[in-house]
Amino acid sequence: MRSNVITKRSSRPGERAPEPYDSARRNFTWAEARAALAGLPGGALNIAHEAIDRQVLAGQGGRLAIRWLGRGGGERNLTYADLRDATSRFANLLAGLGVPAGSRVYSLLGRQPELHIAALGALRAGCVFCPLFSAFGPEPVHARMSIGEASVLVTTRALFTRKVAPVLDRLPHLKHVLIAGGMGPGLPPGAVDLDVALPAASPRFETVPTRPDDLALLHFTSGTTGQPKGVMHVHQAVVAHHATARFALDLTADDRFWCTADPGWVTGMSYGVIAPLTIGCTLILDEAEFEAERWYRILEEERVSVWYTAPTAIRMLMRLGDDAVRGRDLSHLRFMASVGEPLNPEAVVWSNRVFGLPFHDNWWQTETGGIMIANFAAMDVKPGSMGRPVPGIEAGIVRRNEQGIVEEVTSAGISGELALRAGWPSMFRGYLGQTERYAKCFADGWYLTGDLAMRDEDGYFWFIGRTDDLIKSSGHLIGPFEVESVLMEHPAVAEAGVIGRPDEAAGEIVKAFVTLKPGHAADETLRRELIGHCRARLGPSISPREIDFREMLPRTRSGKIMRRLLRARELGLPEGDLSTLEVDER
Ligand code: AMP
Repeated sequence: MRSNVITKRSSRPGERAPEPYDSARRNFTWAEARAALAGLPGGALNIAHEAIDRQVLAGQGGRLAIRWLGRGGGERNLTYADLRDATSRFANLLAGLGVPAGSRVYSLLGRQPELHIAALGALRAGCVFCPLFSAFGPEPVHARMSIGEASVLVTTRALFTRKVAPVLDRLPHLKHVLIAGGMGPGLPPGAVDLDVALPAASPRFETVPTRPDDLALLHFTSGTTGQPKGVMHVHQAVVAHHATARFALDLTADDRFWCTADPGWVTGMSYGVIAPLTIGCTLILDEAEFEAERWYRILEEERVSVWYTAPTAIRMLMRLGDDAVRGRDLSHLRFMASVGEPLNPEAVVWSNRVFGLPFHDNWWQTETGGIMIANFAAMDVKPGSMGRPVPGIEAGIVRRNEQGIVEEVTSAGISGELALRAGWPSMFRGYLGQTERYAKCFADGWYLTGDLAMRDEDGYFWFIGRTDDLIKSSGHLIGPFEVESVLMEHPAVAEAGVIGRPDEAAGEIVKAFVTLKPGHAADETLRRELIGHCRARLGPSISPREIDFREMLPRTRSGKIMRRLLRARELGLPEGDLSTLEVDER
């Protein structure tokens, strides 16, 4: 494990040296991290104020905040002052519509600046913001909007007609639909043309003095059973966004930062929108989908200095070979980080060879609200390790003892559940409407992450796997239940069990096992029909890529499909404890 250590890069002439890990950790307090932000009178704290107004008030209003690259070659630049005006207009628009503070404002948008404006404008107005991934199909969109009782939706006409119109009659809380990029047929009565309403609204708005513990963001994550969970985050999370962007991404105000994650997911919102703005740097926003040549061109032409991306993309870039990198002038690139799923050690070694920089893996979850474990710029990188806990975070490997008490395993090299000492600012404050489920995540002062890991003798953490059935495909966490439910809506399907099957590029792909109702033939036509059905209802990113037909699925005595067993059999792994197995497929 120690053999491949990549020693930290020494600073180039004139370059600021990142603070050593040990002293950064020793000297850090969350109180000081909070004091580094501005706050509002009376102890109030609002993310929009910290991300935008703080920079403008410091005389940085003319600095470039967002540089947007359109799919078809267009571009837009917004300074911090532009962003202050646009988000104030958005907040005024909400006020004009009579949307009270605390309301849930959702977006269903691609990667475009309107998303940033809606997010920070809603937060400025004291509303709760929830971004949805634009590749979701109507069912995931509906589930998330209805659980969160969305009252405002910001979207485009195309996305509305394809994904919201089919479920609109099942969204009783939705009062306002705001359309970016032009109106047209298929929109509901009263839909607001954002392109007209925003310029007409006043660019001055007094930010709502939210309390640090007021709800700010809602992010959905998948569950193994039941509907997706609405993870609740508060304004105070910004303290962690700001601090971790410095520590784990080595971000400074002079950087041109590219976070490739979609803001419809937690990484894209926390580190693609909020954190870099609180640092005062320029963020690059690319509307287009992944395409290796385009990405290398962006890195070069946009002079990206800090790049935060994901293992799936890195693996695809590796496939293209070394020459694609070597032909480029990437001299301004000084830090690269990765998150979302295990980063193969080969990818770190490869990047170090061809970029002259290793990818720095880091770890966190929707629930943690910010990066918790990271390979710091000032640390040696151990390829395959997620790194060490960021300052202010205590991470441990825990196990339950015979009395059921959660205890830390202090010896190195022992696997157990990864846990964090509860109480950091960006810790989630609940699963919407599921108090018990939230409480179950905590025990004996620890937040239990659901990941299996181990710590080595140097305090580096190594990811082993998950303790549940969740699937990670291209960095997206997918709940098997959501996919199984859609499969079972099909008239031919009797039951369905969904697992993740390892895949070289995507990490895992979604694979479904299906039993059929009498009278349906298990043939290629039906297989294709089922895949098409899932893609239409769920969207391509969470639909099964493979479907196998079975006579029966293995179940527990209590009637639950044993996904663990389906997976073990699919992969030829040991079947483990079968004492609860009731019906066997064999
Ligand atoms: P999400 O809540 O969608 O961000 O997914 C969080 C989960 O992604 C974690 O619990 C891990 O299972 C996985 N994950 C995130 N980052 C890493 C990483 N660096 N290495 C391995 N797994 C990761």
